[in-house]
Formats: sequence, structure tokens, C-alpha cells
Amino acid sequence: MKRTIKFLSMTLLIPAMTACGDGPKGDAPWIVDRFDDIKVIRYEVPGFEALPVEQKELIYYLSEAAKCGRDILYDQNCAVNLPVRRTLEVIYENYAGDRTTAEWKALEKYLKKVWFANGIHHHYSNDKFTPEFSQGYLLDVIETIPLEKFGSLNDLREEVFVAIFDPAKYPTKLNQTAGDDLLLTSSSNYYRGVTQAEAEGFYAAMAAADAGNPEPVSYGLNSQLTKDDAGRLVERTWRLGGMYSAAIERIVYWLEKAEAVAVGPQKENIAALISYYRSGDLKEFDRYNIGWVRDTVSNVDFVNGFIEDYGDPLGRKASWEAIVDFVDSAACHRTEVISENAQWFEDHSPVDPRYRKEEVKGVSAKVITVAMLGGDCYPATPIGINLPNADWIRKEYGSKSVTIDNITYAYDQAAHGNGFDEEFVLRADDRERMSRYGKLADDLHTDLHECLGHGSGQLAPGVKGGELRSYGSTLEEARADLFGLYYLGDEKLVELGLVPSFDVAKAGYAKYILNGLMTQLARIEPGKNVEESHMRNRKLIAEWCYERGRADNVIEWVKEDGKTYVVVNDFEKLRGLFGELLREVQRIKSEGDYETGRELVERYAVKVDPTLHEEVLTRYAALGIEPYGGFVNPEYELVERDGKVVDVKISYPANYVEQMLDYSKNYSYLPNVN
Ligand code: ZN
Repeated sequence: MKRTIKFLSMTLLIPAMTACGDGPKGDAPWIVDRFDDIKVIRYEVPGFEALPVEQKELIYYLSEAAKCGRDILYDQNCAVNLPVRRTLEVIYENYAGDRTTAEWKALEKYLKKVWFANGIHHHYSNDKFTPEFSQGYLLDVIETIPLEKFGSLNDLREEVFVAIFDPAKYPTKLNQTAGDDLLLTSSSNYYRGVTQAEAEGFYAAMAAADAGNPEPVSYGLNSQLTKDDAGRLVERTWRLGGMYSAAIERIVYWLEKAEAVAVGPQKENIAALISYYRSGDLKEFDRYNIGWVRDTVSNVDFVNGFIEDYGDPLGRKASWEAIVDFVDSAACHRTEVISENAQWFEDHSPVDPRYRKEEVKGVSAKVITVAMLGGDCYPATPIGINLPNADWIRKEYGSKSVTIDNITYAYDQAAHGNGFDEEFVLRADDRERMSRYGKLADDLHTDLHECLGHGSGQLAPGVKGGELRSYGSTLEEARADLFGLYYLGDEKLVELGLVPSFDVAKAGYAKYILNGLMTQLARIEPGKNVEESHMRNRKLIAEWCYERGRADNVIEWVKEDGKTYVVVNDFEKLRGLFGELLREVQRIKSEGDYETGRELVERYAVKVDPTLHEEVLTRYAALGIEPYGGFVNPEYELVERDGKVVDVKISYPANYVEQMLDYSKNYSYLPNVN
């Protein structure tokens, strides 16, 4: 189990059910920059102002610590990243020539991409960027700037040029092609001058020496593997006094400040983390993780360290990352209310009473608000966290799983106004309802799906589960989705104070049907059918309801100005159809009725109408929506009176370039070559 990183490259290509909620605070737009295939969004931190001052102060110190490891990640991604970034930054800040030419714009775009990816390789595809300016141009520009501005970077000029312009050098950050030497062909800096066989042998010997230990440490997690002068394999550990020491020193400095104001178990946890940064001892890291996962009382929480190993072709070495967050009590209240009423929902569901659970327990999902992103979580960020990664700790002590609400909210806001609704939603009242209630409908549907849907229902005696085989996951997602859709339109939600009216369901239903019948096709390549089980499930539900409701015109295809639209005419009847299908899908699962399940999926969920598909792809492409997104951070400022912190002010800068230059100036501690 690894953290569920969703960079939203796919999920956000098409906004799920949501359009958006209220407009942004103030005048600042949600999208602060766009270049290449990237949009940069700002996020807000609702609830920060209302936190007790001690928690705000803690967030401030942890946020400073979160910014101090940025250079580490650059160097981990590729040894030449820091010199490239710094050379381009000197140029950017000092070039007095024409900044309106195409080549200058190309250089600026390249730098923006380097900042976004924390290096010269694309953050998602891992391929090296191709500059759209020439070597000659870069040389000309550099010659207009006094040499001393570049300082020690002058000695690295050739390496920088090779890194930017030679396509054969550092072609990919992460090569995973079986048969290749994955270390020699990957440009990341986790191994230096070491072959794959040497590295595997080195760590196999360590694992053998530790065989049988029920608490195995994550060998190699926090070090570079290289060779000493005698040619022996050695680890350079990332710790105080070791590799990356100058940055780690600053991280520890701020963590100590945080420790001083932390209370309860968190105080001890921060001390354990500091101890680990000092010693580099992975047993200390485990001790810290155990304390962290057991701490369920602290309102403010954070991640800071070498955490995820996606960037290492051998899956051993972890990139540096940081997140600071606090509990989103309003959103947690929502899932608590739903969970507390789990039995009521089960008892009133439209499924055959024999297949309802007699005693049902809801799960309450934890929702957090992010206050700061750093390292490998910045600017591109996950929307959920599931940690720690060590299997034995997960088994013994469990894990923390959270979703990040203010980040998904910002994504939704940024998607609003991208022209999607105007292009695909025919009726103004639908657009208006989606705009007002789309986010709430989406959140509630997710809550009902996750907290209740999957856990509802029971199997008939003798049925083991697994009978539905390859159709099982699509039908299971359909079951959970239908449970959510059915109850999204229930009076009970109004009674519980979770929604103001049936309008929330109308917003959710209209978007769900539109997506299932039509717009999700934008994520399918031409000529392909629907394969992914969540997409199949949505298509199944939407197509089935269309056909079943045809006599009453519940859902209708409309042609206008040569464009195809889909509209829901009768929301109450549609809800009835959701209930009917839920009853049938539950029966199929409970009885293990493979044949009917297969028939349902094959008939409704798989086949794509090529004409409609082509139309959706064309209309979607015309919107020009960037597939990848990332964020600028808010800024925090201590307010002191008589040497005492009395408040922390938050502000929302809306300039990507300024934030990057600020971080490079004020949070850059490592030498060019590490
Ligand atoms: Zn699910």
C-alpha cells in the first residue's frame, strides 16, 4: 500500500460531478499562471483564522520547515538540476534586453517548467524537456550579464548547456524498461556510478543480515548509494552532518521551534523526527512513524521527510516532501453525521430486505485542510494521503488515510470557467444548480459511496463473494455509486441538515448522467472501448437509466446547432430508477449471479458510439484545458507583541514566478554540486 497520489492528470481532465461553489475571495483568479500543459492554481485555507494562536504558530514553524528542503528534491531528481535552475534564475533576474521576443518567451517558459517539475524532467512523464530556444540565443543572453552575477555557476556552464540542449544526456528521470540497467539509464541522483546489479546485491546482503526481523527497517530509504575512492559501495546518508546537511540543518531549526510550541504526543513525535534527522538512523524514523500514526488527537498534523520511493527505479530511495495540515471539522462533521445514521440508511434502502445488513457500521472518513506544500508535494500535489509506508507498521499500528478538501476545492474552482459547462450543459438552470451545488453534491455523493455504500448489503447464505469475477469491480463500484445517488435525493439529508433542498441532488444527477453518457468519453482514446471500472460503472448506470426511463422521457438526447446534448427531464423518476438498479445490482452481488452481471456490464458499460466519441473529443480539445495542475502556497507572517507571538496572518499571493524566485532566494541552502 502506498499513498494514493492522484495528480489529477486524468481525474481533472474531466471535472468529476462537480462544477464549483462560491467565487474566489477577493479579486484574485483561481488560476494564477498557465504554460505548456500546466495550470498553476492558488488554494485557500478556510478555517485558519479561527484556529487558536498556538496552533497557528505551530503551523507557521512547520510551514517554514516545509520550505527548507526544496533544493534536496531538485538534487535528488537530477544532479545537474540546481545549476540549471540557478543559471536560469540569474538570467531571469538580470537580463536587460528585449523580453518580448519569441526566444525569450521560450526561455521563460522553460524556467517555469523547471520550477514546476523541480528539475529538467517532466513531473509526470519523466522525459527531459526540449528547449524551444537555441544554444546561441542562451549564450548571447548570458554575455549581456556581468560574469560575477553567476559566481561559482561559471564553472558549471558546460554541464548546464549539455543538460539543457543535449537530448542524449539525461533523457529520462526514471527508466523502467525491463532489460535495461535501470540505474545507469535513469537520470535521478539516488545512485552515482553504481550498476543495478551492484545496488541489488548491496541491499540483498543487508536484507539477508536482517532476515527474520519482524520490524525490518527500510534499508536505503534515506541515502545515496555510491562508491568510495577504493571502489567500495557506500551510502551517503541524508542527515545532519551527511549529504544535504545544510538544508537539513534549517529543517531541524524550524522543527525545534515547532517542538517548543507543540503539545501532547505531538511534542514527542517532533522530537523523534529531529532525532532521526540528526542521526539518519532508520529505526528512529520507524519510532517517529509509530508515534505519528498513533497520534489521533492533534488538530494540526504534518509530513516532513524522505517518504515516497516512486522516483527510484528500484523503489527504495525516497524523495523529500512536506505537507502541513489541520482537521477540516466541517467536512468531518458531514461524514460523522452520515456514519452515525448508517443503520437508518441501510434499513430504508430499496434493496431486498434479505440482502440488507442487520447491523451496519459506517466508516467516518477524515478530511483535512492543507496549509503548506513542500518538496515533492509542490507545486503538483496529491489529493489524499495514506501513510506510513512501512508494511509492518501498517499491520501493527494501522495507517492514517485522509483526503484534502481545500485542494480538490481549488481544482474545482479552477475548472470553473474553463468553458466545460457552457460547452456541454445545455440548460441554464442546470448550469446554475451545478455552479451552486456541484461541489456539495460531489462531496456528499463521495461520502455516501465511501462511508456507507461499499459497506452496505449482505450476501445470501452460501455465496462467498468473488463469483462475479472480472465484472466484480465494475458492479461493486456501481453498487456504491447507486447507494450514494439514491440517498443524495432523500428527504433524510435535508432532515439531517446536510443539504438545503432537492436541488443539490438535481445538480449531482444532471452531471452524473452527462458524464456517464457522454463527457467521460473525452478520456478514452479514439477507437477504444471503456475499460476502467469506475468509468464502466458510470456508463452502466447512465445507459441503463436512459433506456429504462425512455417511455417517460426521463433522460433525453437533444441536438442543437449540430451539437449533441443530454438532459434530465424528470429528477424524481430518475431517483426511482437509481433505486431500482441498486436493488438489482445488490441482488446480483448477494446471489453471485455472474450471468446477469456479465450481461449488464457488456450491454451497457463497454461499447462506445464512435460518432458521439469523435464529437466529444473534438469539442473537448477545442476548450484547450491543460491536463496538469499544481499550486502556489499561501504565505504566513508572525504578528508579535512584546516578543510574544499574538497572531499569524495568512495571505494568498497570486504570482507563480514571484513565489518561485522568493523560495530560491530565501530557502535555498545547498551547494550547486552535492
Ligand atoms: Zn468505490
